[in-house]
Amino acid sequence: MKKVVIIGGGVAGLSAGIFSQKNGFDSVILEKHHTLGGECTGWERQGYHIDGCIHWLVGTKEGTPLRDLWNTVGALKEVDIYHPESFMAVEHGDVTVHFYRDIERLKSSWLGISPEDKDIIEEFCKDIKQLQSFYMPAGKPMDMMNIVEKIKFMLSMKDAGMIMKKYDKVTFKEFANRFNHPALKMAIYSFMPEGEYSVSSIIFALGTFTGEQSSIPIGGSKALAQRMVELYISLGGTVESSCEVVDLDIKGDMVRKVKCKNGKFFEGDFIIAACDANALYERLLKGQYPDPEFQKRFNNPNVYPLASNIYVGIGYEGTMEDIPRTLKFPVESVDIKQNKKPIEHLQMTHYAYEPDFAPEGHTVITFAINQFQHELEAWEALDKDKEAYKKEKKRIGEAVIKAMENRFPHMVGKLKLLDVASPQTYEHYCNAYRGAFMGFWPTLRGKSLQHTGRIKGLKNMVLSGQWLQPPGGLPIAVITGKDTIMRLCKKLKRPFISV
Ligand SMILES: Cc1cc2nc3c(=O)[nH]c(=O)nc-3n(C[C@H](O)[C@H](O)[C@H](O)COP(=O)(O)OP(=O)(O)OC[C@H]3O[C@@H](n4cnc5c(N)ncnc54)[C@H](O)[C@@H]3O)c2cc1C
Repeated sequence: MKKVVIIGGGVAGLSAGIFSQKNGFDSVILEKHHTLGGECTGWERQGYHIDGCIHWLVGTKEGTPLRDLWNTVGALKEVDIYHPESFMAVEHGDVTVHFYRDIERLKSSWLGISPEDKDIIEEFCKDIKQLQSFYMPAGKPMDMMNIVEKIKFMLSMKDAGMIMKKYDKVTFKEFANRFNHPALKMAIYSFMPEGEYSVSSIIFALGTFTGEQSSIPIGGSKALAQRMVELYISLGGTVESSCEVVDLDIKGDMVRKVKCKNGKFFEGDFIIAACDANALYERLLKGQYPDPEFQKRFNNPNVYPLASNIYVGIGYEGTMEDIPRTLKFPVESVDIKQNKKPIEHLQMTHYAYEPDFAPEGHTVITFAINQFQHELEAWEALDKDKEAYKKEKKRIGEAVIKAMENRFPHMVGKLKLLDVASPQTYEHYCNAYRGAFMGFWPTLRGKSLQHTGRIKGLKNMVLSGQWLQPPGGLPIAVITGKDTIMRLCKKLKRPFISV
């Protein structure tokens, strides 16, 4: 039986492991952390559960190719799905702008705010509606399709492609300025900092959300990953946790041994690096097998930015059913030293729909503060002084609580700081380069990457996971894990078992 060694037990590694087992390989997953799931995780603090990942999961709609894939890997089978009524609500002065799931409701609420923006509101809603019927493909990867399949695939992408093309070269600021009303302007503008970021990312997200394709699995991220682990083990897969790969023994064009920090080593016919791309090329391959596509991107962070966040967990002694699940509100008091510009809004998400995440009568709240190149570098520098790093995280957490108390005076004295994760936290736990939680963010000048994971010069090792293609996130992790095994089966001239 051919042996597959998988480096990394995130969603991509688990997907590759499950399909390895289904296809008759003998596989082992080597994971640095004690728990599998990678960035798709959650953690316990003071009796509360902080969900560290899923805000939206694309592929929750029954009968779609991606949902079928999630079911096959055990992630969503027989799981209840929560469908929030709004993607986000953004407060500006006295006005609250809702990004409702029901696109007609979104349209009428926005027209109610600003009748004079009728033309742009209608165009915006029409374009989002056109994306609703686009389902993320989860079958064969492009490089494995024959010409007929490629033509069919291109035709199926036509409508979505036209919309994406329309918005690809438009920044958030440019798009926001097409609206007259300051609250509508701000609702769009506040998604991203000023810069070359393409507004297409949010148009796509709203297409899947209003098309009922993205929602939230009950139990959250950690439970989702755990279900995949259980399926993998039940199929005969082996897990080695707390087992960080630190070196590779390479002879000619073959990786002979994978060496771990704990002294263990593993041999395999095939090695799948389902870990961070930078950690693979720079740390494990020591810069000896550079990939021009990745090099170009890592060396041009202005054109190919990485994104991470500061993630603050708060316990609230009270209930919040009457407040939108994700709410952005203006703030004055949150000074984040790493940020180039002061924070103008805070984005909170509460988990009132998950009573098991908090003691009875309490609610968990998380705040995600986006961090980009400038901030990521600042965190990297600060992390060198552990005391200062710890102090800064605590200071930010306390400032967030103060801002929350200003916005919700009835919460004064009832908010407890549970945890503050920084971009460096993702680096520490997942080897995530600069804490990146997805591949390269779409910008006006950036070209989207479509990579097979092949490593030039090595015959038996490939990269898999969120770095290989846009838009990143959990869907790309699960799809690329499967694709990697599909390519392996093709190489060995075996049929691929997909169910
Ligand atoms: C705060 C936050 C919110 C998010 N929200 C969403 C969301 O709402 N929807 C969505 O779709 N996505 C979301 N994401 C993104 C999503 O979590 C990731 O895209 C996805 O989990 C990536 O999976 P992966 O398996 O490709 O990589 P990872 O999760 O990074 O997995 C890689 C694994 O490899 C391990 N590893 C690394 N190096 C080594 C080594 N040398 N030896 C052994 N093991 C190693 C790591 O520990 C890790 O477990 C979010 C991420 C974050 C951080």
